[in-house]
Amino acid sequence: MRVISTVRELAAEWDTGRLAGSVIGYVPTMGALHEGHLSLVDLAREQCDLVICSIFVNPLQFGPDEDFESYSRPVERDLKLLEARGTSVAFLPDWVEIFPRRERTLQDFGSHVSVPRLSHQLCGRTRAGHFDGMVTESLLFLNLVRPDRTYWGEKDFQQLRIIETLVQDLRLPVRVVRGVTRREEDGLAMSSRNMNLSPDARAVAPRLHQVLLESRSRLLDGDALSAVLAAARDTLTERGFEIEYLVAGEEESLTEVRTLDSRVPTRLFAAARLDGVRLIDNLRVTEVAP
Ligand code: AMP
Repeated sequence: MRVISTVRELAAEWDTGRLAGSVIGYVPTMGALHEGHLSLVDLAREQCDLVICSIFVNPLQFGPDEDFESYSRPVERDLKLLEARGTSVAFLPDWVEIFPRRERTLQDFGSHVSVPRLSHQLCGRTRAGHFDGMVTESLLFLNLVRPDRTYWGEKDFQQLRIIETLVQDLRLPVRVVRGVTRREEDGLAMSSRNMNLSPDARAVAPRLHQVLLESRSRLLDGDALSAVLAAARDTLTERGFEIEYLVAGEEESLTEVRTLDSRVPTRLFAAARLDGVRLIDNLRVTEVAP
């Protein structure tokens, strides 16, 4: 595995890959890697000849009170994991390589893209500007890496839909490939932030996924959506979760729905804080083929 940190080295990798006729796959991450990230690397390796993984904690997507400075950066460990999974190139630029004027916020940066229709609901309600910062930096990295395929996890389903929409609307020459959510044995969706959970909170955290599973089975039994969601919120609140949202939404538009239509792919989406740590999860509830 080559470990590189400059845009110039990245361009040389691309030239060599293209000359060899390689299909180039790209997995963007913010590091603190776990099996969720690594499953995307596995998928890229199955489908591509050259697999580039970036690790970059994007300042533009963190709000002023969010954990940008304290976000975990275990670089040596991450590189070992990437190497063991057969990554071809690890791209670890520093902040100034990407943002030469040390831009910290979208307001500091000259240009931005936005996918407004999908960015204001769900997580966008409480994390103002988060998705504009995410999608602007993602477009910048797609322009630098110039992959044939790029790999994104369903764990962050809203983010995935925003990237898919950006690529479709602006006709970016890249294919977006979805990876399913990887979970701990007890069902908790893997996340770099899980390590911030106290032992007590870690023991309770899998309830989020369990409640989504229970809700799905009640919905498939024909129970009314509003009653199922209300019960799910109560259960989580009793367990100490501070719920940000727990709703059903269309997969395509993320629009919240009041009743289920089996012909429309729909998911339950949840975000909640437990012991100060923000957890998100989602689960498909209609039986439509993917
Ligand atoms: P992050 O480092 O959190 O920005 O995530 C980088 C990529 O890994 C994104 O496409 C995420 O959706 C994906 N990812 C994070 N957690 C998981 C998970 N548990 N299962 C699958 N993909 C994940």
